[in-house]
Amino acid sequence: MSGSVTGVFGRNAFNEATMRECLPKNVFQSLKRTLDGEQPLDPATADVIANAMKDWAIAKGATHFCHWFQPMTGLTAEKHDAFISPTKDGRTILEFSGRELTQGEPDASSFPSGGLRATFEARGYTAWDCTSPVFVKEDGKNITLYIPSAFCSYRGEALDKKTPLLRSMDALSRQAVRVLRALGNTTVKRVIPTMGPEQEYFLIDQSFCAKRLDLLLAGRTLFGAKPPRGQEMEDHYFGSLHERVANFMNETNNELWKLGVTAKTQHNEVAPAQYELAPVFSTVNVAADHNQLTMDTLQKVARRHGFVCLLHEKPFAGVNGSGKHNNWSMATDAGANLLNPGETPHDNMVFLIMLCAVVRAVDQYATLLRASVANAGNDHRLGANEAPPAIVSVFLGEQLTDIFEQLAKGTAKSSRHGGTLKLGVSTLPQLPKDSTDRNRTSPFAFTGNKFEFRMVGSSQSVSGPSFTLNTIVADALSDIADELEKASDVPATAQKILLDIVTQHARVVFNGDNYSEEWAAEAARRGLPNIRSTVEALKTIPSKENFALFTKHGVLSETELRARTEILLEAYSRQINVEAQTMLNMARRQILPVCCEYSAKLGQAVTAVSAAGARADTQTRLLKRVCDLIGALETNIEALDKARAKAAGIKGHEHQADSYRSDVVPAMQALRTTADELETIVDARLWPLPTYAEMLFVR
Ligand code: ADP
Ligand code: MG
Repeated sequence: MSGSVTGVFGRNAFNEATMRECLPKNVFQSLKRTLDGEQPLDPATADVIANAMKDWAIAKGATHFCHWFQPMTGLTAEKHDAFISPTKDGRTILEFSGRELTQGEPDASSFPSGGLRATFEARGYTAWDCTSPVFVKEDGKNITLYIPSAFCSYRGEALDKKTPLLRSMDALSRQAVRVLRALGNTTVKRVIPTMGPEQEYFLIDQSFCAKRLDLLLAGRTLFGAKPPRGQEMEDHYFGSLHERVANFMNETNNELWKLGVTAKTQHNEVAPAQYELAPVFSTVNVAADHNQLTMDTLQKVARRHGFVCLLHEKPFAGVNGSGKHNNWSMATDAGANLLNPGETPHDNMVFLIMLCAVVRAVDQYATLLRASVANAGNDHRLGANEAPPAIVSVFLGEQLTDIFEQLAKGTAKSSRHGGTLKLGVSTLPQLPKDSTDRNRTSPFAFTGNKFEFRMVGSSQSVSGPSFTLNTIVADALSDIADELEKASDVPATAQKILLDIVTQHARVVFNGDNYSEEWAAEAARRGLPNIRSTVEALKTIPSKENFALFTKHGVLSETELRARTEILLEAYSRQINVEAQTMLNMARRQILPVCCEYSAKLGQAVTAVSAAGARADTQTRLLKRVCDLIGALETNIEALDKARAKAAGIKGHEHQADSYRSDVVPAMQALRTTADELETIVDARLWPLPTYAEMLFVR
């Protein structure tokens, strides 16, 4: 690693410290007021800022700039422009104007728009999100200035994941400030949602990927028999780092630190070949940008080390999949965490109101929250025995549940405390005990001073779940503010609000084992939704209630929300279609030929052994078994082919997604089962694909 961490950190980010250094004082102060949400950016300042940015970037070797945005693919997009501006005498000068900084018009008409924009309506605009630092990125020899941006259509409709996220941050701030004001806070100006997303991923040797069309095209294995060893030894989780992996992590951290991404925690995860990286939390939009940079960096650095980084939610059947735990809270502009319970949460009214607002929001909009994490990959995870179930519930822990129960009876008079832990060894320190234990099975857990939303998939943009969470909490806070603002006795009204929420929404609180069958039954009794698939979840989005929610808070119009749902349904169908076609290709051109070859060898063995006068009973039995399975394989191939062709021909995104879900996915499963069985009996020297054991254990 080059240089000390403090020297490296933020070296390639045009952050506040750099701006203060590079900009004239009055320009910096004007920009600072924009950053604090006090005034829009003034165009004259924009020219000065752009020029300073350009000089800074060029000094770092940059030749290009780009507006970096997040279209509905869930990935990021960029189109680079050189700083050059030719002069009449055949030379060039380097230029970058305020207008180029603040606005781009990339065309970009091939991104999904859900009908918001016809391809011939080519204009699409990007707008600088000045609250997320500009940075210089080095990709090989190419060095470019990146400008985090929002992306919208000619008519101003959001075509990306960032615009609604920024709108939802405003909405949350507006409503939270109203509540705080009503509760007597006279100084707060803004409330900012904060987030720290923990990112899980797999690393496998690059050579395996080249030999597997499924990994190459679908990012997950579509075939593969269960290996003799999986994660049952529990020896990988938090285990000592393999040197090759440690080197990869070291370089990843270094690259991220340069960009100002606060990569902090790293460890081996539960499944073999699975790892995690977590940053220090930041403002939600910055966290979202940084998570995109993290996913990108993990993949790029992996290649340098001969690995492939898999971000799919379920690269390997039979071992844990990957998620993204979104830790979320709200902070005031003065830096106070509104979900910090303090020493005596029972008489901390701000905390109790904020906590209850979140509980109400999650209960009332459980279905929407579930839909916000729906994608084809996450269908393998939610509800399986590792990730949170598809049922949305809230874990509060002992201390807060106790307070909740007291509130239900009227007022809360006391807070339980953790005390200290005695380990029974004189040389070990006495540890202060947290007021509550953790629950790792909960989809939405209170973890001391924040909530951890664990249903998000590892490959997903965090923007969707985050703008949903911001908006539903804003909605709860808005109703609370309505009541508080017209109250003559604020403390009494606040108590009544708490009582109402606790009574009406206690059903969503669950502190037990979320993986158990009893919980599924209990949740059904409580009337909590249990939506098991992406298609089912997405279909619930366009409802009267959801349109009203997003319109009221200015986050998405009805048209925008409908468009998004269409895009997500279509993305589901496309992903399953790619997987099905990949399976057909592999089954027909790799697996079936090898099985036929093996059966021919067995046939020759039967003939040869019998001709030699010995009994070929085993060979005969094996031949029959292989031939039976080959027959089944052929039948399954044809069935999948038919199901896929049928689904592909269906008009209407919803019907089409339904067919992929109910016809194609089961046909894929059937084909896989037969192929995996063949893998367990066919001569290993012939098998055309790297095995699970190799992929998960060779490092
Ligand atoms: P835990 O052990 O509870 O998971 P960590 O400190 O490891 O706690 O936090 C996990 C993630 O939560 C980190 O990314 C961390 O920065 C983030 N986090 C901590 N506090 C907050 C907060 N107030 N708002 C949002 N995220 C937070
Ligand atoms: Mg984890």
